[in-house]
Amino acid sequence: MPRPLPHIPGASAALQGAITRLENDDPRFSPGEVASAFRVWQWVVSGPVRRARDHATHADCDLCNSPSREVLELALHLLPQRSARELRRLVAPLDERFLRRTLPKPQLTEGPWWWFRT
Ligand SMILES: [Zn+2]
Repeated sequence: MPRPLPHIPGASAALQGAITRLENDDPRFSPGEVASAFRVWQWVVSGPVRRARDHATHADCDLCNSPSREVLELALHLLPQRSARELRRLVAPLDERFLRRTLPKPQLTEGPWWWFRT
C-alpha cells in the first residue's frame, strides 16, 4: 500500500486539490512536497525559540535546511489566486511567529526575506 500523502492541517479540499494538481503538473514539485514543506515550516516556528533561530542562521544553506519556506513561496506564486490566498492565510501566522522569534540580519546578497534573520 502506498503511504498516504501528507496534507496541510486546516486546508480545504479545494486547496488540497489545487496543490495536488500543481505538484502533478509542475516538474519543480514532487507529490506531497508542499504539505511537507508546510509541516517543516510549522515545526521550525514551534517548540523552543532556539529552533527558529538555528533555522534562520542557516536559512540559505541546503546542507542544514532542506527548502521549506522556499517551496511554499513558489506554490504561493503558482497556485490559482483563490487557493494561493487560502494558503497565504495558513502560512501567515507561521511567518509572524518566525519574525517574532528571530532578529534582522544585514542583507548582503539577494534573497527572500526569511534569509535575513538570525
Ligand atoms: Zn548551514
